[in-house]
Amino acid sequence: MLLYAEYLLGILSAVLGAIVGSFLNVCIYRIPSGKSIVLPASHCPVCKYPIKVYDNIPVISYIILRGKCRNCNERISPIYPAIELLTAIMSLILFRKYGLSLEYLFSFVFTCALIVITFIDLKHQIIPDVITLPGIPLFALAAIFFMNVKFMDSLIGILAGGGFLFLIALGYQLLTKREGMGGGDIKLLAMLGGFLGWQSLWFIIMASSLIGAVAGISTMICKGKNSRYAIPFGPFLSIGAVAYIFWGNMIMKLLFYR
Ligand SMILES: [Zn+2]
Repeated sequence: MLLYAEYLLGILSAVLGAIVGSFLNVCIYRIPSGKSIVLPASHCPVCKYPIKVYDNIPVISYIILRGKCRNCNERISPIYPAIELLTAIMSLILFRKYGLSLEYLFSFVFTCALIVITFIDLKHQIIPDVITLPGIPLFALAAIFFMNVKFMDSLIGILAGGGFLFLIALGYQLLTKREGMGGGDIKLLAMLGGFLGWQSLWFIIMASSLIGAVAGISTMICKGKNSRYAIPFGPFLSIGAVAYIFWGNMIMKLLFYR
């Protein structure tokens, strides 16, 4: 009986994730242009035709409509169902880790913020302040009160996260007279440090630099090494942070024998 209940809650967490993912799509699409994320209702980006409720079921509608708008037949980007699916999977695995708890709730909201940041950064090379600036104090408070993160660990996380990248950015700018790391990355790392504690920063910086280096070298090979295409760093920081939620404890033990 208990097992069935757990299965059911697991499925519900995935469904909730998909629905939230559908909302994240709206945020990703509208936040960069400063539009309201509530109004107007979802519409086709090409023909502006309002999307009917029955055509707005996460993932499933995309499959039924074979990735096309019902009105104008224009192709809908597969990014939309991919983000819904990703959010559903994140919700499910966080639920498996934390169970029905406030830890699940807050780590899910945190992950959602990172999904929005990642896809906006990939598309526009910006990390919106509307998320990171309120995110720094709000996620820090959630971590201190509900996630067993110590007040000082969170506070040092914000200061070290912000300060570390600020110094790197300053150094880079002084050496090359070019702006490398954006201010958005600095605020994002402060938000990550505040929610996960300063200890997480070692791992996040190492992991994201490693993934970033691999991505950077691959882009150089594909696009020619003189390309000025700046790879956004926000997605790598986000991947590092999510990886820390799942494997942080284990990796810290391996690194520092704690
Ligand atoms: Zn259309």
